[in-house]
Amino acid sequence: MFYKQDFSSQQIIRYINTFSYPLILLFMIILSVFNSVNEILGFNLALVPLIIAGANIFWSTIKIMIKKRKITAGVLVIIAMSATAYIDDYLAAAIVGWMMIIGEAIEDITLEKTRNAVRKLITLTPSSATVKRDGQWKVLPLSKISKGDIVLVKPGERISVDGIVASGTSAVNEAAITGESMPVDKTEGSEVYAGTINQSGALEISVDKVGAETTLGKIIRVIKEAEDNKGQRQKVADKFAVYFTPIILLLALLVYIFTGELIRSITVLVIACPCALVLATPTAVVASVGNAAQKGVLVKGGITLESAGQLTSILVDKTGTLTEGKPSVVNIKSFADKEINEVLCLAASAEEKSSHPIATAIINKADELGLSLLSTAEFTMEAGCGVRVLIENREVKVGNERIIDRNIPSKISDYLVDRKSRGETVLLVIVDDSIIGAIAIADTVRENASEALKSIKRDGVKKIIMLTGDNHQTAEVIAKELGITDFKAELLPEEKLAVVRNLQQRGEIVAMIGDGINDSPALVLADVGIAMGAAGTHVAIEASDIALMGDDLLMVPQILGLSRKTLQIIKQNIWVFAVLVNLVGIVLSSIGNITPITAAIIHNLASVAVVANSARLLTYNHDINPENISILSSNCCS
Ligand code: ADP
Ligand code: MG
Repeated sequence: MFYKQDFSSQQIIRYINTFSYPLILLFMIILSVFNSVNEILGFNLALVPLIIAGANIFWSTIKIMIKKRKITAGVLVIIAMSATAYIDDYLAAAIVGWMMIIGEAIEDITLEKTRNAVRKLITLTPSSATVKRDGQWKVLPLSKISKGDIVLVKPGERISVDGIVASGTSAVNEAAITGESMPVDKTEGSEVYAGTINQSGALEISVDKVGAETTLGKIIRVIKEAEDNKGQRQKVADKFAVYFTPIILLLALLVYIFTGELIRSITVLVIACPCALVLATPTAVVASVGNAAQKGVLVKGGITLESAGQLTSILVDKTGTLTEGKPSVVNIKSFADKEINEVLCLAASAEEKSSHPIATAIINKADELGLSLLSTAEFTMEAGCGVRVLIENREVKVGNERIIDRNIPSKISDYLVDRKSRGETVLLVIVDDSIIGAIAIADTVRENASEALKSIKRDGVKKIIMLTGDNHQTAEVIAKELGITDFKAELLPEEKLAVVRNLQQRGEIVAMIGDGINDSPALVLADVGIAMGAAGTHVAIEASDIALMGDDLLMVPQILGLSRKTLQIIKQNIWVFAVLVNLVGIVLSSIGNITPITAAIIHNLASVAVVANSARLLTYNHDINPENISILSSNCCS
């Protein structure tokens, strides 16, 4: 609440700062229209704003030329102003300069609005925290707080660090990070993030990360980078601008040679400055990235939006992406003379050092039954197969059929077939090469998965393929449940990578959606890597191009829709407001239909139009399920 008020007063001061200088210039320009004023002064008052505005534009243009070795539109403006002054029309020259300055001020303010998305995020982190020092609570600035400290967050306060709840229970609103407005229950051991709001109870949090290292810190950094990171179209526009200036100068020269009228060629110079072109892409990108951030989605820059808007195929990981990724043990079977509990105990002991969701499920089950785990040695993990350890000098393996090299007896394979046909994953428990038991694990399909996939398909991405390391039968059951016709099962991580590469070689633009934990290589290789549930998992944020902080799959069609809209807006900006307006303006100027002042007005209107057009992306919402709406509206009509 407080920072909001603070911010708006800051904004008013900014407005005053930005516009006071053009207002003074305008005042002088208006006064100079009265001949009597000029007579009293003994010179044309328009000279003053002309010189001030001219010097200002000259200075900033020179600065950019020296610093960035780039010729900007400013050069054209300076030439236009000088030429107008040369033909003794000081008033027109001053107005041209003033228009440029006021145009820039309006663009600045509008751009500022889009940048607010980031600023709001920054104000989310409190600058201090209540921390335990020498057994007492003290309020200290964040810079004095480090990993391992215990901080206290009272109800209603914003959490200032990433960490683990050490004591207390509460509901925390994580909307700032995940976009999800339903509060999440936190108790001892839960992860909490900086920038989220502690709602109901007091929490003591053991600090893990502070400042730029937190999930929020990474989000802020990525968004800031997006503001600088230019899409490919932007690079084209930049290259274009290099040729643009000489071409326009040449054109102005030709107009002068053919018509003999200096004023016409000046008008060409004024109208043809490439401001709208330069603004076309970055304004759209910044607005889209801001929009996504408000929905809890981190989009890394313009190039990502470009690829995401042109996707031809989408690969989706099964475990943890289409399914909840929180599997649980549903059946345990013993094939030797061992007790079921003994099978589970061996398996859980073997899995203890693994962080795979399957391992977690098995260990949780053992925990639930109060089994104590055995000590193990020489833990090794085989990606896509399972794990292997030594327990009391005997080799224990837990994994799928790939982990055993001999044929499986029919009694056991009957069991496997039965469980798999229910969409379950079955792990064999093997001691010294004999199968002593099996554990069946089930994961639930995510609520929105089917709707999200349907929506993606409806939007024109025809190829959706499910990838999984799980066995064929289980994959088939899940695919059927989700209406997926195309899937590849029993893939090793490097085979998932090969699928991405294959599609790319066939010219497809490929997105990979994964949980970012064991899919990172595929996420990196894909044209658009989309990570689910990225809050807190820094690997996922690093490896992906688009990171969903929450785990709502419906955000995928939402962001793909936003990307397509962004491309559309960029095209409008370039072709309508930059190219078309310039062409028409150049023609009108050449035939002497408009004056330099009108040209300056049209030119600036085009730039403002570009910024305003891009700003529409800030509030864009993709219609995930257009059918619902058409049903509603047809009901209304009948
Ligand atoms: P995905 O994420 O696509 O489901 P993974 O590559 O993580 O696939 O795993 C593929 C398969 O490898 C699992 O279905 C399981 O059969 C086996 N597996 C992987 N890790 C383990 C583990 N820690 N314990 C037992 N089996 C495992
Ligand atoms: Mg996975």
